[in-house]
Amino acid sequence: MDFRLNEEQQMLQDTVARLVRGEYSFEKRLEYSESDLGFSEDFWKQLGELGLTAVPFPEELGGFGGSGVEVQSVMTELGRGLCIEPYLQSVVLGGGLISQSGNDPQKEQWLGGIASGETRAAVGLQEPQSFYDLNDVETRAEKSGDNYVLNGRKAVVIGGHCADVLVVSARTSGDSRDADGISLFLVPADADGLERRTYPTIDGAKGCDLFLNNVTVGADALLGEEGQGAGVIEYQAGRAIAALCGEAVGVMEVACDLTLEYLKQRKQFGVPIGRFQVLQHRMVDMMSELEQARSMAILAASVADEPQSDERRRILSAAKNVIGRSGQFISEQGIQSHGGIGMTWEYNFAHYAKRLIMINHQLGDDDFHLERYATLLQAS
Ligand SMILES: Cc1cc2nc3c(=O)[nH]c(=O)nc-3n(C[C@H](O)[C@H](O)[C@H](O)COP(=O)(O)OP(=O)(O)OC[C@H]3O[C@@H](n4cnc5c(N)ncnc54)[C@H](O)[C@@H]3O)c2cc1C
Repeated sequence: MDFRLNEEQQMLQDTVARLVRGEYSFEKRLEYSESDLGFSEDFWKQLGELGLTAVPFPEELGGFGGSGVEVQSVMTELGRGLCIEPYLQSVVLGGGLISQSGNDPQKEQWLGGIASGETRAAVGLQEPQSFYDLNDVETRAEKSGDNYVLNGRKAVVIGGHCADVLVVSARTSGDSRDADGISLFLVPADADGLERRTYPTIDGAKGCDLFLNNVTVGADALLGEEGQGAGVIEYQAGRAIAALCGEAVGVMEVACDLTLEYLKQRKQFGVPIGRFQVLQHRMVDMMSELEQARSMAILAASVADEPQSDERRRILSAAKNVIGRSGQFISEQGIQSHGGIGMTWEYNFAHYAKRLIMINHQLGDDDFHLERYATLLQAS
């Protein structure tokens, strides 16, 4: 099987690579991260103007009709630049949930703007008690005449602080961990009763917790069928996992490059430290982990847009497990190889390491996905 990108896919990846190289120095990233918005508005606009925010959307919406492979190409380059713009949240997850379950008016209202980058979406799927279980939903949506009234709290909504629309899961029936009874709602950011408490995340991005206090939305805000949101969330979380795997590969590539370069130029005892065999072995192990992660990312991309099946579920969990473990290994070994400088704020390696650790925790860490993989395997 030929896993190389075709000419169009390669052109897409080169476009993102050029943009990131030109616009996203490490120093600029620190500035973007410390700004009120938490990322670069200008860079986000450029992603839109170049059609990169439109990659996964159908052509009739001005999209590129791209699959998991194209999305992963974009994410790999964003990972290489350690970009903190909310591409995953707005384009992949927000756009994905609306594409899969929205009716025509909802798609018309939101998808064009998300594809052009003019509208930003974010997703509130996790809650303080839910850990990685996206079916653990305590936020309630009660029917009131033609409306729904939402009450509850959604945690760590990355990009939620600046989103125009939030896709939120809420329970319309059932107990707190039931898969049945979860519904999805489109909540405009300026809805009465919606409070956003913003904070920085340890990997340089920004997020918020959403507090929904009697937020009233019309029946037209219900996304998909009432009570049937769990399957949609699981499917789109799978697409996002494949995208995250791509980002992780980009982050790992740079982390390995930085470490190799450091081993060649840092001298101790009169020689470059890369001459010490113990560090050579460490570097080889890091590169082996990178190659395993790359293979699993390619596999994840190949099933991202396939119909849901236990095989798709297993592959995505296997990929997220390997990516999580490899990312952790590369960040820890890279820091060790750098000595004290690997811990400093002013040098970029530590920031790559933090992103890898946080990627492991997004949408389920390595332990969570190992258990899910084993459960699926036993059930098959
Ligand atoms: C959180 C933190 C706090 C610190 N606080 C202080 C402080 O208060 N005061 C202070 O003086 N210093 C402090 N340091 C610095 C610390 O002492 C040094 O980082 C440490 O001694 C390692 O030296 P280095 O960073 O120059 O790494 P290097 O010596 O450059 O080592 C880089 C890598 O090469 C490996 N290596 C080096 N030589 C060999 C060899 N001969 N054979 C095989 N491998 C080798 C090392 O194991 C490491 O993996 C701190 C460091 C950290 C991380």
